[in-house]
Amino acid sequence: MSVDNASPATSAEPGTVTSHSPAPIDPDALAKQVLAGTPATSEQGLAILRTADEDLLDVVAAAARVRRKHFGMTVKVNYLVNLKSGLCPEDCGYCSQRLGSDTEILKYSWLSTKDATRQATFGMEGGAGRVCLVASGRGPSNRDIDRVGEITKSIKDNNPQLEVCACLGFLKDNQAERLKEYGVDAYNHNLNTAESNYEEICSTHTFEQRTDTVKKAKAGGLSPCSGLIVGMGESDEQVIEAIDSLRELDSDSIPVNFLIPFEGTPMEGVHHLTPQHSMRILAAVRFMCPDKELRIAGGREMHLRTLQPLSLHVANSLFLGDYLTSEGQDAIADLDMIVDGGFSILGQEDTEALRDQILASKNAHLAAVNGTQGGTEVGGTGPAGGASGVAGAGLPCAGGAGAQAGGSAGQPGAIPAGTSAEAANGTAPTSGGCPKSRGEVPGTPTVPVIRRRGAGTDLPPNA
Ligand code: SF4
Repeated sequence: MSVDNASPATSAEPGTVTSHSPAPIDPDALAKQVLAGTPATSEQGLAILRTADEDLLDVVAAAARVRRKHFGMTVKVNYLVNLKSGLCPEDCGYCSQRLGSDTEILKYSWLSTKDATRQATFGMEGGAGRVCLVASGRGPSNRDIDRVGEITKSIKDNNPQLEVCACLGFLKDNQAERLKEYGVDAYNHNLNTAESNYEEICSTHTFEQRTDTVKKAKAGGLSPCSGLIVGMGESDEQVIEAIDSLRELDSDSIPVNFLIPFEGTPMEGVHHLTPQHSMRILAAVRFMCPDKELRIAGGREMHLRTLQPLSLHVANSLFLGDYLTSEGQDAIADLDMIVDGGFSILGQEDTEALRDQILASKNAHLAAVNGTQGGTEVGGTGPAGGASGVAGAGLPCAGGAGAQAGGSAGQPGAIPAGTSAEAANGTAPTSGGCPKSRGEVPGTPTVPVIRRRGAGTDLPPNA
């Protein structure tokens, strides 16, 4: 993606984005305008995307003032539970779960209520204030709505303060209302890209069908969550067009995903974004939708790279740990970003204590599995050890029942919930060590690592 410096001013109607270069913009003056109550126009958003790399810190500093006005120094932590993975009949080009995808992801049908509740609890114990219950597919049947409703009730019985967001595909009439009755708080359905780009990424449904579901969710009393996937070859104008659509829908929260170019999908090998441009996209969203929850989502490690901590001065929300089908960075690294940046987790009394507790528990566990520890408490009483009652079982890479279960050759395929993915496909992880533990992996990933832990496996998640 080319990132041009701003060019001379041209006239444009507010709310329209034309193909010309926008007027140069002063980020500080834009922040004053937004703080005074006037969000950035589309033209101003485009001008932010066209600022020079050398001006990036000025853009971030200005966007950070807007962020702090609405969210202070808090970070909302969200946690994904993939209830049903793969085998989708739709053909979204970026998606590892799409029709015809050759990506060797975990594939499984619905998690049981017990397993889903357990996974949600892991997230909560890692600091999450919201759990996102996601299922692949075109949309839920009424039976699926009941299933997710039962899971929601179970989660809230144990953790009444935890918000639940459902992400189940296209909604039919009255399904949002039924989810609301079950206690679901929010519904996610991303627009992903601009209407003018939609046919480039999907042929089995339309942009309008996506906006229709977001509207149904909102009309049914659910908080609408809808966002983007950037880096799919869209133009800067199309990024702004998509943000404009999101603000027309009045989405309460906006996850910004950065393309994860899965092998076996049409987007394999696509890598258009720079860290600086990824940051400018976040800033454009902040200036155009100043009071909306802005979440750094899938692919942030790959595209924001070492600018991730800086991005929290613009965004106010993140997904903790792993994504639906790929690994995220170590959850401890997420908590480090929050603590080291001087932020606090929304809903947590002491973020640093939570981070330190989880880290101590994890280190104790790693020492135990590496055979270097004698008699040290493993798992402890902290959040990481609590959910399962098994020492260290709440830790990423902890050696659960499935950790050594693989080894025999097998073919990837459908893996029933509650069985070991590694046992099924013969891809047992290295036992006795955590490949992504703190400080062990230099640099940042450039290709996705497929998730083979957490939901749908017997291995503990990265939370
Ligand atoms: S994004 Fe959703 S609807 Fe599209 S292929 Fe993936 S799981 Fe299916």
